[in-house]
Amino acid sequence: MPTAARQANIKIVLVNTAHPGNIGGAARAMKNMGLAELCLVEPREYPAPRAVWRSAGARDILSNATVVGSVDEAIADCSLVVGTSARERRIPWPLVNPRECGEKIWQEAEHHKIALLFGREDRGLTNDELQKCHYHVHIPSNPEYSSLNLATAVQVLAYEIRMASLAYENGALPELSQWDQPLATSEDLEHFHTHLSETMATLNFYDPDNPKQLLTRLRRLFNRTRMDEMEVSILRGLLSAVQRKIK
Ligand code: SAH
Repeated sequence: MPTAARQANIKIVLVNTAHPGNIGGAARAMKNMGLAELCLVEPREYPAPRAVWRSAGARDILSNATVVGSVDEAIADCSLVVGTSARERRIPWPLVNPRECGEKIWQEAEHHKIALLFGREDRGLTNDELQKCHYHVHIPSNPEYSSLNLATAVQVLAYEIRMASLAYENGALPELSQWDQPLATSEDLEHFHTHLSETMATLNFYDPDNPKQLLTRLRRLFNRTRMDEMEVSILRGLLSAVQRKIK
């Protein structure tokens, strides 16, 4: 697949950004590294002259950016979702380092759409948002001061994607082997998780008012398996059969 088609499959998603300067800075970092798809989830101040000013020669990235109302909307068509995190979280999640992240994104971009999520300047991504991700990536910064500026974090990870694309062109990064079915998208997976939790509630297997970490653990389990469309539809068929039986 030509480079431009892979680049078009890689979406940089900025969630609830407070400072428009960071949006402009991220757009510039993306264009420098050959990325173009920018998606803004509920930016707090946008459009804004400061974003345009900070984007410098990357105004086209800003004018083509899509603005959406939720993370779900931003990632609906994506089959690989990677979330960035400036610090350790309570429940461990499959983790890749920035280099592995660049390589994985470049390899998978041949087959489907990908989202790389960046959080709010003051508090990053929420646990809910992080749990929608297949992998987390942490830039191994100084543990005593680990949080990078948002646009700088975009720069580092976009650079790693760039390095992976150059390695691929030189034959140093292999192609992924072909799978027989397309991988499920985030939208398919959200529907599956809703169906699963409703069925478990009907079975009294869990109490929706006191779910503890059950749903999180199930999300982590199913995200780890990278289900394809056929597998999701088999499991949803099974859930429907269970629901019919108990009604
Ligand atoms: N105080 C927040 C820091 C947010 S920094 C927190 O503790 O989560 C804003 C965003 O920049 C983060 O959500 C992430 O997308 C990115 N970022 C900053 N430092 C990072 C790092 N070391 N590794 C990966 N992403 C980082």
